[in-house]
Amino acid sequence: FIELRDVAKSFGPLKVVEGLNLDVAKGEFLSLLGPSGSGKTTILMMLAGFEDATSGEIVLDGQRLNDLPPHRRGMGVVFQNYALFPHMSVAENVAFPLQMRGVAKAEVQRRVTEALARVHLEHLAERRPSQLSGGQQQRVALTRALVFEPKVILMDEPLGALDKQLREAMQLEIRDLHRRLGLTIVFVTHDQSEALTISDRIAIFDKGKIAQIGTASEVYDRPRNRFVSQFIGETN
Ligand code: ATP
Repeated sequence: FIELRDVAKSFGPLKVVEGLNLDVAKGEFLSLLGPSGSGKTTILMMLAGFEDATSGEIVLDGQRLNDLPPHRRGMGVVFQNYALFPHMSVAENVAFPLQMRGVAKAEVQRRVTEALARVHLEHLAERRPSQLSGGQQQRVALTRALVFEPKVILMDEPLGALDKQLREAMQLEIRDLHRRLGLTIVFVTHDQSEALTISDRIAIFDKGKIAQIGTASEVYDRPRNRFVSQFIGETN
């Protein structure tokens, strides 16, 4: 469904991603896990269209994405720092991606109401982001990413700013949305326990390359090399 073929990315002389081949199945929840600087965010940026690949091909649903701008790629993004617009209400925040795509006003309203109902946030529609808890803000960000029915959701450390308890509750919520809506999710984290609980498969990155890819039990029980066993063994 998502295919990365021999993708590389350099910033000047710095090779951040090299020889990356990766397939993500439709409906799959894939985590990209690895230490800081291993290239996870850069991969997400290339998928989203915020960075160009230096070489290689990125394909979604049979369509080559490399030359398409972000809003034509069918991807919804939730980044930790991809903040809500503070001067807009919850409903206006969620409406924004639809307005950007030129959806008619009545249709925008219908879809926003429906999307907020789906995550049980109808009662907060008129509030400003600053009047919400961290978890509620994150749910609004997720709703905003879902509202134009993207083929794929990209998430970069979406729960990084939350405390442990809320983080765990949100993991369940995201997992549940994934199942209910049949979403395809690529999720970046440096937290191995989060990756192990939330994903169908995990790709572990070491310096811009996949050190191992597999289910949680595959990488946990049968680490392929020393890097993987040490990284998985670390506690946060
Ligand atoms: P983190 O968890 O810290 O975000 P990461 O695995 O997501 O780490 P990236 O953010 O993809 O790693 O960064 C990989 C490398 O690329 C780092 O060495 C980073 O400094 C470098 N890098 C990222 N973006 C740029 C840029 N725009 N210009 C130059 N170097 C960059």
